Amino acid sequence: MYYSNGKCSCTGKDGRKKRLYATEFEAIDTANYQSRLLGVQLRVYECSDERGWHITSN
Ligand SMILES: [Zn+2]
Repeated sequence: MYYSNGKCSCTGKDGRKKRLYATEFEAIDTANYQSRLLGVQLRVYECSDERGWHITSN
């Protein structure tokens, strides 16, 4: 499976670097899992810097 180098500089609300997912499917899969785990609504968006996807609760 292809993994991005994660060179993007996107950070979350806590100032930590956001995890970059190589595929939309992987990001959605993880978001669904974490949504159930944390009981929060999460969504997926395409990174503006790098080829990849992020998860956000905003
Ligand atoms: Zn990014």
